[in-house]
Amino acid sequence: MQSIPLTDRFGRQITYLRLSVTDRCDFRCTYCMAEDMVFMPRSEVLSLEELALVAETFIELGIKKIRVTGGEPLVRKNVIELLQHISSQPELHELCLTTNGSQLENMAEVLKRAGVNRINVSLDSLQASRFKSLTRHGELDTVLAGLDKAVQVGFDQIKINSVILKHFNFDEICDLTEFALNRGIDISFIEEMPLGTIHSHSRELEFVSSEELRHALSAKFQLSPSEYSSGGPARFWRAQGYNNLVGFISPHSENFCATCNRVRVTATGRLLLCLGNEHSIDLKKIMRTFPASQQKNALKRTIVQAMTIKPEKHEFDLAHEPQILRFMSATGG
Ligand code: SAM
Ligand code: SF4
Repeated sequence: MQSIPLTDRFGRQITYLRLSVTDRCDFRCTYCMAEDMVFMPRSEVLSLEELALVAETFIELGIKKIRVTGGEPLVRKNVIELLQHISSQPELHELCLTTNGSQLENMAEVLKRAGVNRINVSLDSLQASRFKSLTRHGELDTVLAGLDKAVQVGFDQIKINSVILKHFNFDEICDLTEFALNRGIDISFIEEMPLGTIHSHSRELEFVSSEELRHALSAKFQLSPSEYSSGGPARFWRAQGYNNLVGFISPHSENFCATCNRVRVTATGRLLLCLGNEHSIDLKKIMRTFPASQQKNALKRTIVQAMTIKPEKHEFDLAHEPQILRFMSATGG
């Protein structure tokens, strides 16, 4: 079957898939999960074969970039086999991974060999006790050792992602930026999104806009807008005197929906057409209903059809939470 570019009602071409391989995680970041998370039963989670089929199908439909995520993708058993399979698809341009870094020291080399091009590592604090309280379980030293290993192995791009909360880590943005830029790593700051009900803090009171972040960074860095695009939602700025970039992902303050080029598939096989809306299609049901010989064509028909319900934009409202009950970890961040 010839490849059909996926285009939605608003003329946006969908070329980027974020594929979640698990909703489980070894951390419990306060903004991402509740402390007492209940995870999906394993029978509900797509098998590696089903994940591979989903990836292949999307690539045949014109997807050029896949980001494997979770939950924590590196806690999924045998995830390397899946990554190898995906990266071996000739039509795919880029295989990316988002990780909390807890397994990176041991896995960076094998990830590189498996064909991963770019890695995003989440890091919200450089202070060990604060890092522990933000992630509830994370060890800062382990993540930093993982980052060092990733730099040593050498990926096409390594980027730190930091979610900034006003009273938790806003005071660290210059330190985080300096840490990244001095290591030849890019960094993106993310505005917290209201996904799932949390009790650790008020998302509204912790909100810091990207504009405020840039203002605070200007005390130490001279930033100027860059034309660079990673094909994702981040808008990048260049810091004078450094080769790397500082990005801002601003779902609240600088809406990026007009250029949306992506969809998500959750670990349970739900095709999510928008992070901030519930429009979705159950791909697992299709794979588990049709005989193997018909699954790919049935998936293709369904995915093409799903483009007609992709919403125009997300409608996050921090003052009236929650609008979206699923957590980021269940969404595939
Ligand atoms: N476990 C991996 C990690 O932490 O990088 C991958 C999954 S995690 C859900 C992906 C990204 O989503 C992380 O960078 C995390 O900081 C971000 N994230 C999680 N919950 C968020 C929220 N409520 N708002 C904004 N970003 C969030
Ligand atoms: Fe786990 Fe990533 Fe969510 Fe933190 S942000 S709890 S590391 S899935």
